[in-house]
Amino acid sequence: MIKTDLDQRLRSLKAELGSSILVAVSKYSPIDDVAMAYELGQMDFGENRVQDLEEKAAAFATRGLKDVRWHFIGNLQSNKVKELLKIPNLWSIHSVSSKKLVEEIIKREGEFKGEELKLFFQLNTSHEDEKSGFDTVEEMLESMLFLKKHGGPKLVIHGLMTMGSVRSEDFEAAALKCFGDLKNARELAQKELGLSDLKLSMGMSQDYKMALREGADYIRVGSAIFK
Ligand SMILES: *Cc1c(COP(=O)(O)O)cnc(C)c1O
Repeated sequence: MIKTDLDQRLRSLKAELGSSILVAVSKYSPIDDVAMAYELGQMDFGENRVQDLEEKAAAFATRGLKDVRWHFIGNLQSNKVKELLKIPNLWSIHSVSSKKLVEEIIKREGEFKGEELKLFFQLNTSHEDEKSGFDTVEEMLESMLFLKKHGGPKLVIHGLMTMGSVRSEDFEAAALKCFGDLKNARELAQKELGLSDLKLSMGMSQDYKMALREGADYIRVGSAIFK
């Protein structure tokens, strides 16, 4: 990766962001490229496998890159939660997708050494089978309430996450529909839980522009940065 190219891509993305946050998805990238992005001022990175995140976080720690914020964005299995919460500089989990997972996160909270762990509840708005996430808003709300009631002080309900539909002929319209559904789910969640200011994590390389238009607070972009 050539540093000036990476710089250019990060700059042009950031120019589009407004107050939204860019999570640079580093899952395809070798550690040298990720560290280069960090040196260029990018602090938020997303990984979708616990083992890969462990390795990258360890490499960052070794290099003294200590202001990194790691976002876990992938499908999470309960038996990996303990390992995940131990990872230094873990900042958030975007993919809380079942009651079972919420229970496990509560059980393992003691492993987390940071001040606060931001949790996004993932809703499967496209209803594509291979996507994880809660199938219905009701199930998601039930798990959010469970966390609110039983979770310790470090576990913060930070927002909702979704992935736009990819298999549609008109993917732009389909993505907009998914993002609109997530916005509606946020309204309901805020009302039901008595919360305000829940954030929206939505939009990837192919559909982040639409996500921004729909009010994304976090976009998760990988290939458009690190191709
Ligand atoms: C890989 C991934 C992304 C980034 O995808 P790109 O198309 O490379 O931008 C975003 N969100 C999730 C959940 C991912 O797994």
